[in-house]
Amino acid sequence: MKRRHFLSNTALGATTATVLSSCQTQSTQGNGTGDSLPNVRWKMQTSWPKSLDTIFGGAQTVCDRVKAMSGGKFVITPYAAGEIVPGLEVLDAVQQGTVQCGHSPSYYYVGKNPALGFGTAMPFGLTAQQQNAWFYHGGGLETMHKIYADFNIISFPAGNTGAQMGGWFKRQVQSVNDLKGLKMRIPGLGGEVMTRLGVNVQVLPGGEVFLALDTGAIDAAEWVGPYDDEKLGLNKAADYYYYPGWWEPGATLDLQINRSAWDKLPQEYQAMLQAAAMEANLNMLSQYDAQNRVALQSLLQGGTQLIPYSQEILTAAQTIAFDLYEENSSKDATFKEVYESWNKFRQEVSQWNKINELSYANFAFNQK
Ligand code: CA
Repeated sequence: MKRRHFLSNTALGATTATVLSSCQTQSTQGNGTGDSLPNVRWKMQTSWPKSLDTIFGGAQTVCDRVKAMSGGKFVITPYAAGEIVPGLEVLDAVQQGTVQCGHSPSYYYVGKNPALGFGTAMPFGLTAQQQNAWFYHGGGLETMHKIYADFNIISFPAGNTGAQMGGWFKRQVQSVNDLKGLKMRIPGLGGEVMTRLGVNVQVLPGGEVFLALDTGAIDAAEWVGPYDDEKLGLNKAADYYYYPGWWEPGATLDLQINRSAWDKLPQEYQAMLQAAAMEANLNMLSQYDAQNRVALQSLLQGGTQLIPYSQEILTAAQTIAFDLYEENSSKDATFKEVYESWNKFRQEVSQWNKINELSYANFAFNQK
């Protein structure tokens, strides 16, 4: 099974090149096979409320671009969390064919397979730039296809938030001891690390985070970063805004596609979906960086207090994270295989980025 997916992915790459060259022929000759492409209508379940225009925007970009590229023949309608199924059940709906596709982070589903965490973000893992290098040129995409194949799904990265913030706290947390018993909204493996630090971890979809924090049902919550967090109103529910979001240094959102629906598509539409996903992946990251820079100023003017996580908490969390990866590796052969190749990639690309990116940023970002 797994081998067959690798082979079909390779064949798909060749198909994309063929489609591109035949498009050129069509535009030159003024005719082609475009008229014979079928009308296709798909539903896309997302994990997001529509009010979050950056992250829901990733889903919207895929739908808009596929519609434009197909001349209006391939139309995908995106649905907000809860419209068809809840935001944390997108993978299930795609797997079962309730919808043909979804927009959701793979790490919401680590309970089904812990290796799904690698598709979104790992605590102390890859930045957005590194994550993309891993997906597109480090074997990451093929790895995720193998993992998703068990769920009858093929996926493509379709959005990245960039490095996230470390969450909103109603009271300051300086030491590991301060974290004990704290009720915090944080999903995925970051949540598992927090659990081992003594945090009482809650998983809530975006639309429910503000109310839980504002009413005191939870003491802390992480979502994304300044722009989205301000939109959710989290700054009105807590004063202390911690950084960095060490559990999500470059979180990817996936376009998840039901494999049977994918297989029925003309190759042209498959190529359009891939191109649209890659465009959404770039567009969301650039949108976040541009808008977070403005929102950060707004939050600071509104009285939000920025506080870095202490070295004690960061060091303890990093140790626990890598202990967790070793434990998962000893229990799960798939996790072990992915972790070892991912970790080698992480170490090598970090060595390079320490030389080029970090040395530059350390100097230039600290100048006026
Ligand atoms: Ca987050």
